[in-house]
Amino acid sequence: FPLVVAVDGPAGSGKSSVSKEVARRLGFGFLDTGAAYRALAWHVEASGVDTDDAASVVSCLPSFAYRIGTDPAGYAVHVGEVDVTTAIRDPEISAVVSRVARVPEVRTHLIELFRSIIAEEPTAGIVVEGRDITTVVAPDAPVRILLTASEDVRIARRSAELVGDSAQAAGEQLHRRDEADSKVVDFMTAADGVTTVDSTELDFDQTVDAVIGV
Ligand code: C5P
Repeated sequence: FPLVVAVDGPAGSGKSSVSKEVARRLGFGFLDTGAAYRALAWHVEASGVDTDDAASVVSCLPSFAYRIGTDPAGYAVHVGEVDVTTAIRDPEISAVVSRVARVPEVRTHLIELFRSIIAEEPTAGIVVEGRDITTVVAPDAPVRILLTASEDVRIARRSAELVGDSAQAAGEQLHRRDEADSKVVDFMTAADGVTTVDSTELDFDQTVDAVIGV
C-alpha cells in the first residue's frame, strides 16, 4: 500500500500546484480530488441535468466514466472518451461544482473511487489533495497537511492570471465557493494531528520545501 501524503486547504491556497511538485520531487503519484468533483459537474451539465437538483445529480453517477492518471508529469482528466482537463477549469464549472459536491451520495461514490485509485498506485507513495483528505478520505495517512494562506493572498494569486473584471469576479467566486464548501467539510481548521503550512508569506518553492519538511 502506498505512503499517503494528505493535503487539504481552501481554493487558491496553491494545493494543487504545490502537491504536484511535491509528488514530482519525491517520485510519488499525485491525485487532485477536486478534479473529480469538477469532472462530475461537467458530466452533469453535459447530460443536460440541473446541478441544483440533488436526485438528478445522483442519477448521473452510474454513467460517470471517470479516468485520471496519477503521474504528476502526465496529468489528464477524462470522462468517457472526452478529455476534460481544460474544460473543468472553466469558471462556469467552478460556479456550480459546490452544488454537486454537497450531495452525500456523490461524496460516498467519489470517496470510494479515490480509495481505489490510492490502493492501485504503482509508486511508493501518493500525494492526495482536496478538502476532506486528512479527515475522511485518508485519516490514517502518516503525513497530513492543511495548506492555508490569507484570503487576500489567495485571491491575489488567483487573479494574477487574469485582468480587470474577470480578476474581481474570480475573487468573488473564490470567496463564495469557500463559503459553500465549508458548510460541507471543515477545511479551514486543522484536525487533530494535522500540520498547518501557512503559505501567506512564502513563495512557491518555499511552500514546496515546507510541505516536504513535514
Ligand atoms: O480543489 P478544487 O478547487 O479544484 O475543487 C473543486 C471543488 O470540488 C471544490 O470547490 C469542492 O466543492 C469540491 N471538493 C470537495 N472535496 C474535495 C475536493 C474538492 O468537495 N476533497
